[in-house]
Amino acid sequence: MTVYLVGAGPGDPGLITRRGAEVLSRADVVVYDRLVAPALLELAPPGARRIDVGKAPGDDTAARQARINAVLVEEGAAGRTVVRLKGGDPFVFGRGGEEALALRQAGVAFEVVPGVTSAFAAPAYAGVPVTHRGLASSVTVVTGNVVDPAAGGVDWASLARVGGTIVVLMGIERRAEVAARLIEGGRAADTPVVIVHRGSMPDQHVVRTTLGALGSAPLDAPATIVVGAVAGLDLEWFAPGPLAGRTVVVTRSADQGASLAGALRAAGADVVDLPLIDIGPPPDGGAGLAAAGERVRAGAYDWVVCTSANGVERFVATLRDGRDLGATRLAAVGAVTAAAFASHGLVADLVPADANAEDLVAAFAPGPGRVLYPRAVRARPTLAAGLRAKGWDVDEVEAYETRARADDEVPPQVAAALSGATVTFTSPSAVEAYRRRASLPVPAVVACIGPVTADAARRAGLRVDVVADDHSAAGLVAALIANESGRRRT
Ligand code: SAH
Repeated sequence: MTVYLVGAGPGDPGLITRRGAEVLSRADVVVYDRLVAPALLELAPPGARRIDVGKAPGDDTAARQARINAVLVEEGAAGRTVVRLKGGDPFVFGRGGEEALALRQAGVAFEVVPGVTSAFAAPAYAGVPVTHRGLASSVTVVTGNVVDPAAGGVDWASLARVGGTIVVLMGIERRAEVAARLIEGGRAADTPVVIVHRGSMPDQHVVRTTLGALGSAPLDAPATIVVGAVAGLDLEWFAPGPLAGRTVVVTRSADQGASLAGALRAAGADVVDLPLIDIGPPPDGGAGLAAAGERVRAGAYDWVVCTSANGVERFVATLRDGRDLGATRLAAVGAVTAAAFASHGLVADLVPADANAEDLVAAFAPGPGRVLYPRAVRARPTLAAGLRAKGWDVDEVEAYETRARADDEVPPQVAAALSGATVTFTSPSAVEAYRRRASLPVPAVVACIGPVTADAARRAGLRVDVVADDHSAAGLVAALIANESGRRRT
């Protein structure tokens, strides 16, 4: 039993150490913070338990840390291989020491896997060497979380006299006060300052200013502030992703939107989650689908046709395993739907090149024969009608329903982010749900996953700017990037 306190690095998943990746690859449990890259969580075995201990709303820091310590002790004492994955280096302003103390007190063995700290990596990704011959012979890393020395904050006056480079973590909120105290202590108001927001990530953003103007620099956490002559060097080398600086809204349900949101973030976009629809069971609670599953087992169908990953998931859940399919063949509308079959070890026998109902119908040989079509409530009639016209006997079964979410208030920070944003739609139901909410603005840019959704958007009075050729999350992101480079050219 060992608990590994592992540094995940500043953001880019490539910046974890080999030792860190190795212990992750055999973890039973991963306990991680919100800033940790999803790609790192994927290094853990598929069956590993992943516990998010990111800050919950209304959570106070002490309560949260006590909870984390308790989880580590409990999981470690149970004999599991536990990876506590922490941003940057676990012992640099990461409370890793407190976690190690709790483990030691409980008699649970631990190991520390140091990480690349954002204190040095964020400046490096902005092209700022924290020490430089002739400019800085020392670098001091401080927290700006608590500023008042009487309350346990840094002795800023002494720090100002030390000279050299000052790296401030957790300093964004109180940056005006930090700057004022350093100037009071004797650092010149024109001392160069670099602020690195989300260093090493595809949406890294660098602001250059001076100590005197630091207080008014508009920025959000997480960011690292570098103060000193080295911040005046201009060695920028890092190219952020093609969608850096773009705000993109994902209107899919939270679980469905994860892959789109991930792909957008990897391209540097600032992603706003605005889940407008939920996916739930059909009105009959799934009874019709369960009965259809029985018929499949009895060999009643030649084909099962699915037009979405949702349909696949709900249909496969009615089977005990792949053997229930017997000679029944599987058709998928596109690669994403086929991948959903594949995730259950099932191979789709028929996948048209272009993911749409018309092409799926065209790919079918003429009937006769029996087809089961587990579909969404209120699905388009195209597929069933097309197959019937080709002589197939089609059994349509409601497998799931997409519903507009209750008209909850749009949080103010989301509302603020919406102006000028690109809004993505992956289904006509999301378009309808968007338009039904009076509080949502007409989007600056509308991007749709395919022509059916684009038509729905036009019917809803929106101008459609981007339509993906490949009707998948990856295809939508590719279309947005192509649109972006088109814009830059003009
Ligand atoms: N243990 C971490 C630091 C935790 S304190 C480490 O070694 O990096 C959290 C602070 O780190 C944030 O408030 C911010 O100041 C800084 N930080 C973390 N990730 C960052 C990043 N990608 N870019 C810039 N600063 C970052």
